[in-house]
Amino acid sequence: MAQSLDPATRQALLDRVRFYRDLGLTEFYRRPVDPELLARITAEADESQPESVPQSFQLEEQHISPRRPFPNAPAVAEAIPAAERATAMQLIRDEIGECTRCALHKGRNKLVFGDGSPTARLMFVGEGPGADEDAQGLPFVGKAGQLLNNMIAAMGLKREEVYIANVVKCRPPNNRVPEPEEGATCSPFLFRQIDVVRPEVLVALGATAATWLLGTRQPLAGLRGRVHRVRGTKLIVTYHPAYLLRDPRQKKEAWADLQIAMKELGLKPPAKG
Ligand code: URA
Repeated sequence: MAQSLDPATRQALLDRVRFYRDLGLTEFYRRPVDPELLARITAEADESQPESVPQSFQLEEQHISPRRPFPNAPAVAEAIPAAERATAMQLIRDEIGECTRCALHKGRNKLVFGDGSPTARLMFVGEGPGADEDAQGLPFVGKAGQLLNNMIAAMGLKREEVYIANVVKCRPPNNRVPEPEEGATCSPFLFRQIDVVRPEVLVALGATAATWLLGTRQPLAGLRGRVHRVRGTKLIVTYHPAYLLRDPRQKKEAWADLQIAMKELGLKPPAKG
């Protein structure tokens, strides 16, 4: 008889099965789950469609308007000993405070600073908080966050082992792309977070993160598939999870990008079976 699961666990299993299938990994998911239940959930994952996402996420080839040149990124800070990184991160958070430096603060519920390990080897950078993140004060906790969690798990890592931050720390109205002024005001704090963590690999999730990290506007397609260098760290560019929710066919491409990151980190591809 099929074992029963509570709704949240069942949904997580459904998402994960769908995610692995979208990657083309059909043999991968082998947890101690009743095979009958897994078969039912797999069939459901095949049939069900992902939820729609806000309009601003629907075009991945968005770019920042060329009204202004990019400000120079701050000089790379000295490396901080691992034992002092949590404190260093808190100092950045304290400096941001109840920020009113740009107009985004007006619509904010919670400022979304970042999440994860300040000694992470891998750091993800997104665009800016959405509604769920604004409500909770944590990055990537909505639908796109669930997909990011699955991507992290597929790499053989736990969310707590990586660090996650955004280009802007307050939610843009209607999830629009951050304005140049907003990115220019907020990104120095992101650069300082990167300098504290000193990840071996950074992953830019989507065009906005890639644009601000690289300081150059280029279509995402031309940036994927290779290793860039930013602040002494290797940078991989891939699709934003919200875009992958919209167009799951691109998950295979995103997985290929994540495998570049894994190779740079010396992580083995997940074992099959
Ligand atoms: N999208 C982002 O770019 N960042 C988040 O934190 C959530 C959704």
